[in-house]
Amino acid sequence: MSRFLGERYQALEAYTPGEQPRDMRYIKLNTNESPYPPAPEVTAAINREQVELLRLYSDPTAGGLKRKLAELYGVKSENIFVSNGSDEVLNFAFMAFGGKGAVFPDITYGFYEVFGDLYGISCEKVPLKEDFSVDYRDYLGRDKLVVLANPNAPTGMSIPVSQIEEIVRTNPDFVVLIDEAYVDFGGETCLSLIGTYDNLLVVRTFSKSRCLAGGRLGYAFGSPELIADLEKIKYSTNPYNINRLTLFLGEATVDAEAYYQEKCAEIQKTRAWTAAQLTALGFEVLPSRTNFLFARHPDIDGGQLYRELKTRGILVRHFTNPRIAQFNRITIGTPDQMEALLEAITRILNETV
Ligand SMILES: *Cc1c(COP(=O)(O)O)cnc(C)c1O
Repeated sequence: MSRFLGERYQALEAYTPGEQPRDMRYIKLNTNESPYPPAPEVTAAINREQVELLRLYSDPTAGGLKRKLAELYGVKSENIFVSNGSDEVLNFAFMAFGGKGAVFPDITYGFYEVFGDLYGISCEKVPLKEDFSVDYRDYLGRDKLVVLANPNAPTGMSIPVSQIEEIVRTNPDFVVLIDEAYVDFGGETCLSLIGTYDNLLVVRTFSKSRCLAGGRLGYAFGSPELIADLEKIKYSTNPYNINRLTLFLGEATVDAEAYYQEKCAEIQKTRAWTAAQLTALGFEVLPSRTNFLFARHPDIDGGQLYRELKTRGILVRHFTNPRIAQFNRITIGTPDQMEALLEAITRILNETV
């Protein structure tokens, strides 16, 4: 730390992203990226002309991409905010709507707390139930920004839209942010509620189901007024928040919807197979509606399993939070990758247990 850093940032604990090691080729099951490439039409969309056009600024309104998303999801452009990864929507939402504090589960996406700390927002962390599910009653009639990932991460579990609606309905004077980063892998979207409730913000990303994590593209649905607030924050920080190539790739991605539906279905199939195999090996596997599994074994420590897998060239995500330290979060890869994972786990269990 230099002696110049502002006082309010000195104690800030930054978010720790999953490892992206370059020392060898790992089977990477640690950051919930897609194991599949973008659709062929998307890859083909970038050419010399697109690169040459980089001399011009990108469209700060992201009008083309908004129109395509609006058509695909049956909303209006004014209901959509587009961002540099969904982390940026989360950032702006905490900045804009977190003034009276924020509430979210004790086990959830780690970035929520970081944004809270960044803006000096007091964060209330509500323990998940014993079975790691969200009790929606904990979020009824609250007096602060409510933030829920649905499905939740890293548990993979979801709650029904009827419960989300109760939360939104009973918090009319506060924003309820539903992070749907994983909704395309079998979750239930609450998008249809944005026409009824002006306090609901639904956050999405191209990083997981749209095979575009490195492109950094996210978006949000909400009432025109909520979206206008986010635009105000954006135009006060970084008007050209999304680069030209990514906007272009985003549009091509929306056009290739069928490809992504197919890949999401494949991942769900692989997930079911992997969960069954892990269960047969003695793991407890939480019910997942995402592109990852959260699993623990009674006979091997979560941190140890993580390390043993890493030495065998397989990366999974381990969290040190004591409540979930026994677990590992395993991204669903290709069937081949999951076979390699299960083979490695079987060896490790045979050697250490
Ligand atoms: C991956 C993830 C994000 C961030 O996604 P980006 O769009 O890549 O910034 C947001 N929320 C949750 C719950 C995630 O798992």
